[in-house]
Amino acid sequence: MKVTPETVSQAMIDRWYAQEENYRLRLRAIGELARVCPPPDVFAGQTACPSHPAERWPCPLTKIAWYARGSDPRAEERALLEAIPLPDGMSGEE
Ligand SMILES: [Zn+2]
Repeated sequence: MKVTPETVSQAMIDRWYAQEENYRLRLRAIGELARVCPPPDVFAGQTACPSHPAERWPCPLTKIAWYARGSDPRAEERALLEAIPLPDGMSGEE
């Protein structure tokens, strides 16, 4: 049967919404389970994830958490890096 606006039944629409809700709930569950790893000591030249040393930070699990929560990974990464306090003697000004 060809699906057209006239042949779409209420049951099909209800099933579609139920499926969408299911996806939304699964994504929310993933977002709540996934942990955001702290950034590495960038001022010591480190780039690896402190929790997953084989991965460069932000590691895939951190990105999964951000995507599942609907965050912008670039904005999240920037905010976490900017929150790292400057080491003593490094003021950022000449
Ligand atoms: Zn990690």
